[in-house]
Amino acid sequence: MPFKIIHERPKCIACGSCAAVAPKYWEMSEKDGLADLKKCTMNGENEERIVSDEEAPLNREAAEVCPVQIIHVEEIKEEKKKK
Ligand code: SF4
Repeated sequence: MPFKIIHERPKCIACGSCAAVAPKYWEMSEKDGLADLKKCTMNGENEERIVSDEEAPLNREAAEVCPVQIIHVEEIKEEKKKK
């Protein structure tokens, strides 16, 4: 089951915790000091990335250590096909 990682980037306080626990997925921007989700796509001002089952736990850790709780890991449920 794939997961969607969402980062509400404008609310980031640049604490660096996500990049510390999951540097494979998170890094601190050299431009403005905020966190960036690596290989993400932008959805408005949010960063998003689809990851596999195996990649979710590290990102959940990042979500847990984020002091402002702006990292979300959501399961992508298969949409039922309409006939
Ligand atoms: S843990 Fe949260 S507030 Fe801290 S840098 Fe990462 S996204 Fe920003």
